[in-house]
Amino acid sequence: MKREQTDVLIVGAGPAGLAAAVELKKLGAGKVTVVDREPEAGGTPRLCHHVGFGIRDLHRVYAGPQYARRNVAQAAASGAIIRPATTITGWGNGRTLTYSSPDGLGEIKAQAILLATGVRERPRTARLVPGKRVQGVFTTGSLQRFVDQYQLPVGHRAVIVGAELVSLSAFMTLKKAGLDVAMMTTELPQHQIYFPYVPMKWLTMDLLNRVPVRPLSRVTRIFGRKRVEGVEIRRLDTGEVETAACDAVVFTGDWIPEYEMARSGELTLDGGTRGPQVDGQFRTSRTGVFAAGNLLHGAETADMCALEGRSAAQSIHDFLQNGRWPAASLPIQCAAPIQWAAPNRVTAGEKAGELAFYVGEFRQNALVEVRQGGKVLYGQRYGRLRPNHVMRLRGDWAAGIDFGGAPLEIGLAR
Ligand SMILES: Cc1cc2nc3c(=O)[nH]c(=O)nc-3n(C[C@H](O)[C@H](O)[C@H](O)COP(=O)(O)OP(=O)(O)OC[C@H]3O[C@@H](n4cnc5c(N)ncnc54)[C@H](O)[C@@H]3O)c2cc1C
Repeated sequence: MKREQTDVLIVGAGPAGLAAAVELKKLGAGKVTVVDREPEAGGTPRLCHHVGFGIRDLHRVYAGPQYARRNVAQAAASGAIIRPATTITGWGNGRTLTYSSPDGLGEIKAQAILLATGVRERPRTARLVPGKRVQGVFTTGSLQRFVDQYQLPVGHRAVIVGAELVSLSAFMTLKKAGLDVAMMTTELPQHQIYFPYVPMKWLTMDLLNRVPVRPLSRVTRIFGRKRVEGVEIRRLDTGEVETAACDAVVFTGDWIPEYEMARSGELTLDGGTRGPQVDGQFRTSRTGVFAAGNLLHGAETADMCALEGRSAAQSIHDFLQNGRWPAASLPIQCAAPIQWAAPNRVTAGEKAGELAFYVGEFRQNALVEVRQGGKVLYGQRYGRLRPNHVMRLRGDWAAGIDFGGAPLEIGLAR
């Protein structure tokens, strides 16, 4: 087994990991190594052959593969070492990670580690949808591999499960592959597609208007013996059942963090995000181990993950300089309909940045509060809260915390 050393080891060469690498090299962090299990670096955007990437980090609009190539080129030019086809398989002692690559097995010892392993969509099996294991069932990610990477046929008529931003990406991929989209289904009362960028709205709204969205509906069965032949859809409010003929079903969104590394490293996981708990400086519960990007919150857009990677780089650099790690921090809990918050811990004596959160229900004119032991510390009013859309608390929400007191809670005003 090969034994290597680096100053910073970054697991995941997506927007968060690559942006962190560039920033670390700028800060003079020494040897920075980025590994990715995929044969090419770049992360999820490599497979998203549509525009909508790079606005807030690079101030330009890129298609996914172009954005991924630019990030990889920039990281390589910065002097970071990028190692694709290298899967991190587990933890050795302290901050040593084991890997498997075409050159064999090895371990890399680092002074600091950044986990930037992203998220995946919950597949059909995990959503407990009955029916035979037939051909024609995809997630958006696997659909894009079939269509864009391997140019394989995917069918003629599709049903999309989900009606959020990533469902729109699935929709565009299906249209490009020449399929009819029979419908989108959502368990919520209306779709949650929003357009972070106006050009995206121009490009897709007209097509999208022609696709029926079935609200308050769940796909409860997939029919077919070898290939999908149709789906059963149940209305959650009336119990009414309908069937739709199709030969492809795409399960979109419903994100699960790629938390295996975090779990096997015994990092404290957050009950809301299901990723590792972090404080505002991206520090996990294990000394010298940081986390950034969608691993912390499924799912943000790529530019926000890249900006987060840059911020995490500064924290990592500080740790390399002073070796300081906070002894304690307060967890942030969520009260329904708030599903998760990130960061999900606060460390005493540090400036708290923005707090991102997700809600599970549509709400109008809602007051979101940060509370501690029943005392309201901060409130921010929102004209509209929308599920599957990252909302943010932007003000000084962490002022007045008693660090010897109860955990914090984020919830709607009672
Ligand atoms: C279908 C789809 C469409 C999207 N469209 C847009 C859009 O239009 N605009 C936009 O801004 N964003 C879009 N996004 C979101 C965007 O892709 C993500 O925000 C972004 O990729 C997250 O970056 P990340 O670095 O956190 O994770 P990722 O890009 O997912 O990168 C994580 C990397 O970690 C690697 N990895 C995981 N585990 C290991 C391991 N054990 N060892 C080694 N490597 C590992 C993975 O191979 C992966 O490359 C879309 C996402 C999807 C799925």
